[in-house]
Amino acid sequence: MRIEEDTKLDYKDVLIRPKRSTLGSRKEVDLERGFTFRNYTPYVATDVLPDGYPVVQEQFRHYRGTPIMAANMDGVGTFEMADKLAEGKMFTCLVKTYSVNELVDYFDSEMPERTDYVAMSIGITDRDHDKFRDVYEQTGSKLKYVCIDVANGYSERFATFVRGMRNNYPNIVIIAGNVVTGEMTEELILAGADIVKVGIGPGSVCTTRIQTGVGYPQLSAVMECADAAHGLGGHIIADGGCTCPGDVAKAFAGGADFVMLGGMLAGHDEGGGEVITKTYETNEVTKTDDGFYESVYEEKQFVTFYGMSSKAANDKHFGGLKEYRSSEGREVLVPYRGAVGSTIQDILGGVRSTCTYAGAIRLKHLNKCTTFVRCTQTHNAVYEKNTIGN
Ligand code: 5GP
Repeated sequence: MRIEEDTKLDYKDVLIRPKRSTLGSRKEVDLERGFTFRNYTPYVATDVLPDGYPVVQEQFRHYRGTPIMAANMDGVGTFEMADKLAEGKMFTCLVKTYSVNELVDYFDSEMPERTDYVAMSIGITDRDHDKFRDVYEQTGSKLKYVCIDVANGYSERFATFVRGMRNNYPNIVIIAGNVVTGEMTEELILAGADIVKVGIGPGSVCTTRIQTGVGYPQLSAVMECADAAHGLGGHIIADGGCTCPGDVAKAFAGGADFVMLGGMLAGHDEGGGEVITKTYETNEVTKTDDGFYESVYEEKQFVTFYGMSSKAANDKHFGGLKEYRSSEGREVLVPYRGAVGSTIQDILGGVRSTCTYAGAIRLKHLNKCTTFVRCTQTHNAVYEKNTIGN
């Protein structure tokens, strides 16, 4: 047994130090990023001119967009969410549970943004491999991204699967995770991943740390994995643990290329899911015309949201929890929040504002412009429960 003594940080442990800046307004901030992926070989369309000379259409960047991602979770990683986010050049990893036919219908469309901003997600079983092959063969170059997602990215089998996918499909972008340390990030990139997904246990509906005692403080994981990945020309996703736009900004500031969100995007129309109305008795009373006092009731609307390793997810998709497993996720009721557009605007507005405080005219520069300060309290919560608008 060994103890690592140096302090590891979560988003709640730091603030970003404001700096002198020449930026006039947050409108000037550019949140788009362009990436060229390490292992990916783009499909290059060739045309032939009338005189017989081929014209090669070059693709300078493999990706350009606002690097926020919807997680591959029920209620978040849906086709509807993907189409909505893609309108704003944001990314979605679809849930693993769509069928081959559903995926083929979705990707084989006349909407190029589905190719550029949406990944099919799979696990690492033979069935997952076959499923990917079936969708890929029927959609061809329209399927550009695959997210190979397991809770524990440290198994030998996972790296072997990633290597196999890279060998079989040299012209796709491989997202692989989850891991939290530099050496495993490097291993996955060398095995053929373009983008490594970082985060074990920080998620809003995750109970892995409670069930297993395993995890790594998320901001430090992001900083260490980003450093490892960037040294090899790879990229990373900060996956999980963001509770507010400020956390998203801290993830980017810590070196994340993409930030993946589950809970922050849950509860919206685009995630599907039934809206449940509950009635609560408030602590107010009202006076009726005949002088009596009556309790005041209020209705609140919710949507259920659950971790993909929770009992709820296992019941829904796999006929219950296997006897050798325990649940590693919660099922919760999140407030119903309508269309996702205003939530997205809120997140992007926050990140843009961070950039102006830090003096970064582009999101790309935020990492370099950032000095984190350690803190014991990030914000004043005295009126949090009394808030009636913001
Ligand atoms: P959030 O943005 O909600 O904090 O975190 C989302 C991330 O939590 C997902 O992208 C995924 O990595 C992780 N996650 C989703 N479901 C579960 C689960 O049931 N258990 C665990 N340990 N992690 C989960």
